Amino acid sequence: MKQKPVIVVHGGAGTWQPERSGPGLEGVRRAAETGFEVLARGGSALDAVEEAVAVMEDDGAFNAGYGSSLTIDKRVEMEASIMDGKTLRAGAVGLLRDIRNPVRLARLVMEKTDHVFIVGEGAEKIAEVFGLGKRNPVSELRLTYWKRQMKALNERKFPLPKLAELAKAHPDVFSLETVGAVALDKEGNVAAATSTGGFPLKIPGRIGDSPLIGCGTYADNACGACSATGVGEVAIRLVLAKTVCNYMNRGKTAEEAVETAIRLVNTRLPDIYNSMGLIAVDTKGNIGAAHNSPNLCWAYMNNEMSEPKAALTARKIEGKL
Ligand code: ASP
Repeated sequence: MKQKPVIVVHGGAGTWQPERSGPGLEGVRRAAETGFEVLARGGSALDAVEEAVAVMEDDGAFNAGYGSSLTIDKRVEMEASIMDGKTLRAGAVGLLRDIRNPVRLARLVMEKTDHVFIVGEGAEKIAEVFGLGKRNPVSELRLTYWKRQMKALNERKFPLPKLAELAKAHPDVFSLETVGAVALDKEGNVAAATSTGGFPLKIPGRIGDSPLIGCGTYADNACGACSATGVGEVAIRLVLAKTVCNYMNRGKTAEEAVETAIRLVNTRLPDIYNSMGLIAVDTKGNIGAAHNSPNLCWAYMNNEMSEPKAALTARKIEGKL
């Protein structure tokens, strides 16, 4: 065995209310266990992150796949991405209405097309061609949230560009529960994947960081892998997942890299709703998880553990660079 395999998953930054934290922790535990089983069998990091993210997409406790957040006009538009650190191949999808596992479609885009990022009808056609399953992603929980979110929006009478301000004032209502995974396999390959329903009450057509390679997801065998969660517009402007990988490339451990990246968020974008969470693995098998959000629901597992360890917080970073 060349490397000791390890997987880290997240179920989103934001505020995890006590009544929902049980299902969240259970979900990330199951995802980490499923992904680690793939690695323990000698499977690839790429397969491990896909399987881990698919578990969370099916769960209903997260803002990804079934249970995705609703847009302002009460629809679901899911997005996801996946990246293979060995080959730097990547696949991403967006504006999906009813694909059961967006992460599997992202992988198909990566492996079966010449493209990296396909959205909407075009992506759904690829899903059809390859027989991917469909599922109505609208859950009762999200319909309840949507009503609460709309009430908050209406009461404050903010136009939509101020949505982030509103979310800052009502962090419990606008929860961020995107899912993601990073892994290192026995061969020393890393991979990352991220999947989301996007920011609650987003304008239809809005694309966040999660499907954008370098922003929400990045993996490179030269340094490591990263998946982001939080306010997509923040991660996009700082190309956050690639920034974490650059830090690792310059010699920082996964933990130092995610902490430095959160400090960068706090330094460069201090005046907006900048709630973020990051997970990473470096090529030596060190892991990192950091956030400036109230919570980060996450779990990890390696071959020294008989079961995954899950938590609702990691390294909470309030400081600047
Ligand atoms: N990053 C996601 C987005 O902005 C949301 C999340 O992480 O929950 O679409």
